[in-house]
Amino acid sequence: MRWGLVGASTIAAEQMIGAFRSLPGSEVTWVVSGQPAHAADFAGRHGIPSSTTSLDEMLADPAVDAVYISSTNEKHRSQALAAIAAGKHVLCEKPLAMTVAEAREMVASAEAAGLVFGTNHHLRNAATHLAMRDLVAGGRIGRVLSARVHHAVFLPPHLQGWRINDAEAGGGVIPDITVHDADTIRFLLGEDPQEVVALSGQSGMGQGVEDSVMSVWSLPSGAMVTAHESFTHHFAETAVEIHGTEGSIYARGVMTQRPVGKVELVTAEGRKPVPVTPHNLYDRAVRLFAEAVQGHGRPSADGWDGVASLAVALAVREAARRGARTQVDYGA
Ligand code: NDP
Repeated sequence: MRWGLVGASTIAAEQMIGAFRSLPGSEVTWVVSGQPAHAADFAGRHGIPSSTTSLDEMLADPAVDAVYISSTNEKHRSQALAAIAAGKHVLCEKPLAMTVAEAREMVASAEAAGLVFGTNHHLRNAATHLAMRDLVAGGRIGRVLSARVHHAVFLPPHLQGWRINDAEAGGGVIPDITVHDADTIRFLLGEDPQEVVALSGQSGMGQGVEDSVMSVWSLPSGAMVTAHESFTHHFAETAVEIHGTEGSIYARGVMTQRPVGKVELVTAEGRKPVPVTPHNLYDRAVRLFAEAVQGHGRPSADGWDGVASLAVALAVREAARRGARTQVDYGA
């Protein structure tokens, strides 16, 4: 499979080029960037044969099967629609777009064209999250009563660009991290959040966009979720807890790009570690996407998963802005 990169980004450099190359027979053949010097430099550093500032030039190459979009968030919609119009499969970064309507348009267009659309929600590919999902789905903790997601981290200096000061590019911790937590809860519990309340603020990093948010979500089953996302917590460890009538799951250090973290199950029988065999999260996401392109299975997170995670995140932002309970508007 041949990939064209749209966006000469950090995530492409740090994770995704390696993930594409981890698949036998898979190549990265193009990179598209808004700045010619950056495009050429990025291509040179990563051994990518062709670079351009013209998305159309790359899309005109019939040898490109799929594009990976990792530009800033406000560009995702137009780039995805152009790729779909050119008949390319799309793996798009989260958040899919700036609004739910835009995200739905992107995913529906791919569906109408018979193309695979994936959302790069890496966390649901982690061995830890897969193990937690299996415990919940297998009834090991009974009926789920509540969950807690602690995803307050310190945004490293090299990522402190548009994320902390550019609302128009999709900055802020809600589009950046709350979308991941929404996807994680939907994946772990198999339910779509219905209603949210939230408080957001700036705690030392955000300039015109929120850098911290705490929210509470209701689920159709009656279970409740608390979520905390931040860019400013130097020493906090990430965590997920899921509490049920027959047991609790405690996962620490699992809201990360790396294949690390520990999961424990507490039931009437006591506290036990849950064995997991770690693997690279992004390699798995790319493998499942490529298999879906070949007609087998589906991406680990498809386009509609990306629509849903964005809908929850935007409801959290709206709830914080209004100071009121807010329905999640999935747009359908
Ligand atoms: P970056 O800030 O690294 O890159 C975004 C854009 O900024 C690039 O596409 C590029 O524009 C421009 N840019 C970056 N570096 C330079 C440079 N040195 N000179 C000129 N232009 C530059 O973004 P991230 O990698 O942090 O994020 C990109 C997307 O990926 C976002 O949507 C984000 O939400 C998502 N993301 C997802 C992660 C995940 O694990 N799923 C993790 C991190 C990010 P151009 O497009 O014109 O090349």
